[in-house]
Amino acid sequence: MKVLFVGSEATPYIKSGGLADVLGSLPKSLVEQGVECSVVLPKYRDMKFAETLEFVTSYYIWVSWRREYCGIFKTVLDGVTFYFIDNEHYFGRPGLYSYDDDNERFAYFDFAVLEMMSHLNIKPDILSLHDWQAAMIAPLYKERYGYYEFYRNIKITFTIHNIAFQGKADPRLINDLYGLGDHLYYNGNLRHDNCFNMMKSAILYSDLVTTVSPTYAHEILTEEYGDGLQSILNMKRDRLIGILNGIDYTVNDPETDPNILYHYNVENWREEKVKNKLALQREVGLPEDPDVPLVGIVTRLTSQKGLDLILDKMEEMLSRNMQIVLLGAGDRKYEDALSYWGNAHPDKFSCNLKYDFGLSCRIYAGCDLFLMPSLFEPCGLSQMMSLRYGTIPIVRETGGLKDSVAPYNEYDRTGTGFSFAHYSSEEMMSVIDYALYIYSNKDHWEHLVFSAMLAKLDWENSGKQYIEAFESLLNE
Ligand code: ADP
Repeated sequence: MKVLFVGSEATPYIKSGGLADVLGSLPKSLVEQGVECSVVLPKYRDMKFAETLEFVTSYYIWVSWRREYCGIFKTVLDGVTFYFIDNEHYFGRPGLYSYDDDNERFAYFDFAVLEMMSHLNIKPDILSLHDWQAAMIAPLYKERYGYYEFYRNIKITFTIHNIAFQGKADPRLINDLYGLGDHLYYNGNLRHDNCFNMMKSAILYSDLVTTVSPTYAHEILTEEYGDGLQSILNMKRDRLIGILNGIDYTVNDPETDPNILYHYNVENWREEKVKNKLALQREVGLPEDPDVPLVGIVTRLTSQKGLDLILDKMEEMLSRNMQIVLLGAGDRKYEDALSYWGNAHPDKFSCNLKYDFGLSCRIYAGCDLFLMPSLFEPCGLSQMMSLRYGTIPIVRETGGLKDSVAPYNEYDRTGTGFSFAHYSSEEMMSVIDYALYIYSNKDHWEHLVFSAMLAKLDWENSGKQYIEAFESLLNE
């Protein structure tokens, strides 16, 4: 089976969020299980390892009425072939997104991917599209490309990483950017709520829709979580599955992580993990104390991540015998509020407003607890990283948080973390207090850390589920 993955970011080349981790590790896991995988990405100016890429070819393509240069670069990593679409005008800029012409940039990318397939004679069995940036490949394929001999019989899957980002745009772009007829807007295929909606289009035109956790697959069928797309998803519910993301256990390994000072594993964590804690306290300016519970938060600063709950209970949390280290960047209102608390209680709350991969690893390694009270969470990788590093997550039971963290039961000693159901700061606070109580009992705590570190949340099992889903699609 051949799978071509299409998305806007993938580790180790370029990353802004969890999508990059998935496109960096899922194909690698499928290759290990015998699937032939390639990934296509834009060639951003800020990408890493650009010097390792090999130029393949270049030509001009049509993007509706625009004639655009399209260069192709390539590299092979861990058995996965990565292709990069090169166009200086669209991708030779800082960062990844948030430009006024993002719709045009990714319309170009979508055409470039489809054109690359025939220019390079790449014909996958499955074209696996991810998020709105790749969404319009589904209608372009079904309405146009799929009629040509070369492209026939490819199955299209679309993966929703976060339903909050749908790619809503002006209906005039359907013709201007994609050269598709207005009738596809008026018949509802590309329209949602009187707007052109790329994610809705992909849901409708794909052979299979996947999302990144089983619980999120249920949640997005409801008004509360569906962000307006619940009715279309309900229409396609027999073609919707949730497969929990994994994390790459070779990259995210406290035994080898080059970003942490003291390496450890499930056998020696008792002696070594605390050294990381002391080093982290030193690094982020908190008083060095091996015994005080240290709580980590690593997140984009948006309402999705439960920052309103955290801010609501900040004063109460800081009144407890615990320290908090936060690493995050994002909305100004959260940055300002968090800075205030950091300045007011520098001995208890370290507020680091930046994106810093190395520090994020040291937080996963050095903390005792990890707080992630998300409003919604399609999958979430941070809680899996913290489990892997023996840092016990406190999460809200939503999406992938519910599927990856089992609440600790002190009576039968099962579970890997702490969780609460409702989006309520009271509930969050009482679970934090319960976690602090368990922390104070060495016997329980050590058992919990062992269970967390032994939780198996790598890609092997999830990769198998993707293979099964792809195979059943091909057998239809
Ligand atoms: P999302 O993709 O919604 O942001 P995930 O939990 O799926 O959330 O993935 C977030 C990833 O980004 C995690 O690997 C996390 O460690 C990382 N991350 C988030 N914010 C920062 C930051 N400020 N610095 C470093 N890494 C961060």
